[in-house]
Amino acid sequence: GDLIRFLLLQGEMVTATQSLSDEMIELYAAELGAEIRMVDAGQEQEAMLAARYLDVDDTEDEHAVVARPPVVTVMGHVDHGKTLLLDRIRNSNVVAGEAGGITQHIGAYQVELDGGQVTFIDTPGHEAFTAMRARGAGVTDIVILVVAADDGVMPQTIEAIDHAKAAGVPIIVALNKIDRADADPNRVLQQLSEYNLVPEKWGGDTIVVEISALQNLGIDDLLEQILVLAEVLELDANPTGHARGTVLEGHLDVGRGPVATILVQSGTLRVGDSMVAGQAWGKAKALVDDRGNKVDIAGPSVPVQVLGFSEVPSAGDQFRVTNEIASAREVAESREQRLRLAANANRAIGSSGIKLEDL
Ligand code: GDP
Ligand code: MG
Repeated sequence: GDLIRFLLLQGEMVTATQSLSDEMIELYAAELGAEIRMVDAGQEQEAMLAARYLDVDDTEDEHAVVARPPVVTVMGHVDHGKTLLLDRIRNSNVVAGEAGGITQHIGAYQVELDGGQVTFIDTPGHEAFTAMRARGAGVTDIVILVVAADDGVMPQTIEAIDHAKAAGVPIIVALNKIDRADADPNRVLQQLSEYNLVPEKWGGDTIVVEISALQNLGIDDLLEQILVLAEVLELDANPTGHARGTVLEGHLDVGRGPVATILVQSGTLRVGDSMVAGQAWGKAKALVDDRGNKVDIAGPSVPVQVLGFSEVPSAGDQFRVTNEIASAREVAESREQRLRLAANANRAIGSSGIKLEDL
């Protein structure tokens, strides 16, 4: 009653279920002589939490920057050969004796080449990439655009080009299925040129590698081109200090509880670290690499499965190691609270018949 009376005096006709503006809450708090703390101020709140807990890391050595492996995502139209290509790359890298031993599928894997390592994100492509980009998570350094030489540029090819360009990520074109009798590489190169992907042999700067995932042709050349481009990009990261990264995938495992694949982007993640990702928090109970082996640490560009979260984090969530478990919990819970408030506000707006877009 007091609140409604106060608001009436401010010229606000309100009901009991209405949301108030921050300014009105501040006015009322001043009237009461109460001190208030805004917990739904979005990014400000995030920044405050980050400043308080996450960046405080006296183990980080700012000079310890080293080269890191490139992170590569394979994209392209359906049926153009993405899965077969990823399988080929993965299998060509299976050490003798280990063949058939790779049953683990963690959504990303690393291959060991003569010229260095490459990390492949093995996600089913576009949705994951879009979800991550929408959340500001730039995880990919290079996009491999798979285009079937018999089929040419198709809607999802264009979508992939748009994604890569919007993210400012360089594209290497893998012109696949060149083994097919109806393959027409020149027609495809012509089409790609219309999207500003002019091949090097036509005077442009787009790397195009002709491959056949089916017949295992050109795969080594493609990998070589990735390493060359990675060197040009001068990719580096600081492996010291607390790990930061991005959640690539999360799911609930019956036996192991919440499981998340994390791509570490800087620092080094260790078993026992306190961590937060989205609204999930916990202590890293175990780390599992892309071969299914338990490991103790994971550095930059390394994908790793992490066990020990309080709940399943989402793809695109930022992953951070904190100083203490209490900090991880507070960050996660304040996020959860903020999202709940936002959801409530949306519901209130929804029941009023006004659309958020109208506002
Ligand atoms: P995705 O949808 O892009 O993942 O495509 P897939 O990897 O599932 O391949 C779609 C189909 O194309 C499968 O039947 C593959 O065997 C076939 N395919 C993939 N690469 C090649 C290739 O280089 N040559 C030929 N002839 N067929 C291929
Ligand atoms: Mg596929």
